[in-house]
Amino acid sequence: MTPKKRQGQLIVLSGPSGVGKSTVIAELLSERPDIYFSISFTTRQPRVGEADGVNYNFVSRETFEGMIARDEFLEYAKYVDNYYGTSLKVIRDKLDAGIDVLLDIEVQGAAKVREKCPDAVLIFIMPPSFEELSRRLHGRNTDEEEVISGRLRTAREECKQIPNYDFLVVNDTVSAAAGQIISILVAEGCRTKYHADMMEGV
Ligand code: 5GP
Repeated sequence: MTPKKRQGQLIVLSGPSGVGKSTVIAELLSERPDIYFSISFTTRQPRVGEADGVNYNFVSRETFEGMIARDEFLEYAKYVDNYYGTSLKVIRDKLDAGIDVLLDIEVQGAAKVREKCPDAVLIFIMPPSFEELSRRLHGRNTDEEEVISGRLRTAREECKQIPNYDFLVVNDTVSAAAGQIISILVAEGCRTKYHADMMEGV
């Protein structure tokens, strides 16, 4: 019997800006290179060291609004005055090919994914404390003080959405956080609903 090819797993990772998500994601992808990381579209300006098509697809507001009008996003949201969105076509193609897809998105987008894709696994990454988050945002040295305090306020609001997530991971150390996410994904893959073929003939 050939096992039925299953759809890829849609994985959503959210967490306050500055929590170290990108570093955790880099570690996770080095352990699980089979996972496809979705490159979002955004209207925000690239930060130093960011490249178009690598960290984000950086587009103008007009281009982004055109994509909204053509219904090209699985989800999109406005976050600190900029648009961020996930291309529907890319995600659908990967999942249909049986490839697991990772989205790094904020809480409004995650809520939309939850509605549209109930099988998605939603993971929230927390900082060990808000004091530590403030230290990390200042240490990054890329944003103005006003932007940082906005991000800290947003972070507190975002944490109120934790009950909408399936799992909570505290980013104390990068390797421990990545390890926990890997364990979550292993457990998800073992769910009985994905192994109905094993029951055939029982
Ligand atoms: P940053 O500007 O720090 O790169 O990202 C700001 C926030 O936008 C982060 O919380 C990040 O997860 C979120 N984000 C990035 N891409 C997307 C996306 O495609 N959709 C949504 N809803 N949020 C996104």
